[in-house]
Amino acid sequence: MAAQIWYENDGDLSVLEGKKVAIIGYGSQGHAHALNLRDSGVDVVVGLRPTSKSVEHAKEQGLEVKSVPEAAAEADIIMILAPDQYQRTIWANDIEPNIKPGAAVAFAHGFNIHYGYIKPTEDHPVFMVAPKARATSCVVSTPTAVASQSSWLSNRIRAATLGTSPSYAKALGALRAGAIKTTFTEETETDLFGEQNVLMGGVNKLVEMGFEVLTDAGYQPEIAYFEVCHELKMLVDLMNEGGLNKARWSCSDTAQYGDYTNTVINEDCRKRMQYHLSRIQDGSFAKEFIDDQDAGAPKFKALQEEYGNVRIESVGPKLRAMFSWNNGKDDDADMATFTGKIARG
Ligand code: NAP
Repeated sequence: MAAQIWYENDGDLSVLEGKKVAIIGYGSQGHAHALNLRDSGVDVVVGLRPTSKSVEHAKEQGLEVKSVPEAAAEADIIMILAPDQYQRTIWANDIEPNIKPGAAVAFAHGFNIHYGYIKPTEDHPVFMVAPKARATSCVVSTPTAVASQSSWLSNRIRAATLGTSPSYAKALGALRAGAIKTTFTEETETDLFGEQNVLMGGVNKLVEMGFEVLTDAGYQPEIAYFEVCHELKMLVDLMNEGGLNKARWSCSDTAQYGDYTNTVINEDCRKRMQYHLSRIQDGSFAKEFIDDQDAGAPKFKALQEEYGNVRIESVGPKLRAMFSWNNGKDDDADMATFTGKIARG
């Protein structure tokens, strides 16, 4: 059956009229949801810890900011956009005791609902609007908003939810690109699978290993960087324009033949992907992640430390700073953003 996709005419902004939307968190997703909804005419309040460094930032951008319990208490829709591993504590301590009867609870990823870490009572419709793009791509003033694609679902077939979710997606700007109807299960499991096996755990490790093999064999690190990392963007851009066929067709016959005959990604990889999918489906990946987070994230922090020092980054910052469009500066050179994110954890 073909996927059901909503576009602009499928969302009705009047559904949100007179309703207050609380956006909990003002990070990667939170700022984009709050600003886009506000610009679409929605009454938005941002819920943050009083100590959050984002309080002033959100206020400067003209948004009303309150504590999480206060924002939750007055909202008709509560969109929870804090990191997944903290959502259940925020829900239990700050939202559930204060939520209005009948208020809807919303997410940008299905993790906590799918794995049962958050269980709103039947009184609260639950929906998800999950941008399949970096949140900065959702901001109205960014042309790439048209490239973002969202998945939407209702886990309870209720008229209220059915009306609210596409309307929320429209206010976010997500219906311009289209929103695919899905389920919490499908979104959660495919999202985790994609990031673990292809987008992050796949590509990142291919880049690292390719760099190490070349430099171990005596090739210059600068050359290795370009061959295994820099050119990826060109290939991915071609895939986004015209799929694998365009990406292959645009490269030389030599490159194509090497692609077809290469044996690095083989049937063993398929089996390992299936193994990792089974760990997502049976909940063992989620349990391992959340148990580690609950213990203070010792494994996660050790892995961040280990992978923050991969060999390719001994040359990456220097090369990226040399690109004229970067104005002599590497975006990740001081790692402030990344380490800030680690510290927040
Ligand atoms: P993020 O950038 O790490 O969010 C950080 C925000 O959460 C900050 O404002 C932080 O406030 C707040 N926060 C953290 N702990 C809190 C607490 N205990 N109480 C209140 N606020 C707290 O997170 P994100 O990447 O936007 O992810 C949010 C959700 O969107 C997740 O469900 C994620 O899976 C989903 N998602 C993300 C993306 C993406 O591109 N990042 C894409 C699709 C879906 P402080 O300043 O107080 O720390």
